[in-house]
Amino acid sequence: MSRIVYLNGAFIPEEEASISIFDRGFLFADAVYEVTSVLDGKLVDFDGHMARLERSLGEVGMPMPMDREAWLALHRELVVKNGLEEGCVYLQVSRGVADRNFLFPENVSQTVVAFTQLKNLAGEKKGLRVVSIPDIRWRRRDIKTVQLLAASMSKTGAKKQGKDDVWMVEDGFVTEGSSSNTYIVTSEGAIVTRQLSSSILPGITRAAVLKLAEERGFVIEERPFTLDEAKAAQEAFVTSATSFVLPVVEIDGTELSGGVPGPTARRLNEIYIEEGRRNAI
Ligand code: PMP
Repeated sequence: MSRIVYLNGAFIPEEEASISIFDRGFLFADAVYEVTSVLDGKLVDFDGHMARLERSLGEVGMPMPMDREAWLALHRELVVKNGLEEGCVYLQVSRGVADRNFLFPENVSQTVVAFTQLKNLAGEKKGLRVVSIPDIRWRRRDIKTVQLLAASMSKTGAKKQGKDDVWMVEDGFVTEGSSSNTYIVTSEGAIVTRQLSSSILPGITRAAVLKLAEERGFVIEERPFTLDEAKAAQEAFVTSATSFVLPVVEIDGTELSGGVPGPTARRLNEIYIEEGRRNAI
């Protein structure tokens, strides 16, 4: 089925959407993006995603091409035009089109692209089996750029080993999954996740899940943790807009929570979906 996508002001069939070979997103990964999940045809955590988009754009010296209301209208129209009930909206803003030059061009209009993806988000979850690898990404992981080759190589490498994903490690501590924030649950039941810094992306799902968990009395420790601590943990899980709360049941061959999704991750996923549905717009 052909989707209707958004490109620079127009809603058109995906086959008709094309951009210049000189787009800086293509040549320099000079673009930032957001992925917002859709439940019951509505946008989950929309304002969080737009706030992070504005921040990412600001960090790379690009303006916000439109305001919140215009982004919302664009997202909603794309969802309606594609009859999307459950899935996500991908949005990308590049600096625009200019002859290849390392210097940022002046007076170019940004390229704005958005499309939907159909996904089963709220269904039953099998746990992930992950392998650790060194984190080879750049040092500004707090900016959501389309520079995703390291993450893509890493996840493909994990698949080749028959696993589902990676947990990346830097200076002995876990940073992130290929496209997710990482957590462990201690034997005392505390949820441990790395604190925000330029080493990780400030996940929108992370913020929402931590808030919901705190409100329900879970103890949260925002600090780095090692791979050994993770392997000895009661449970582990990851969060992202396209996976919600996804249990991890194996790290480097060591089984966690008996090789099945743990109760904390399952409970947080239920809570997130419940609240996500309630607050979706
Ligand atoms: N870390 C990385 C590296 C990611 O790519 C993602 C997903 N975009 C996340 C964390 C999770 O962020 P969010 O909850 O906003 O999807």
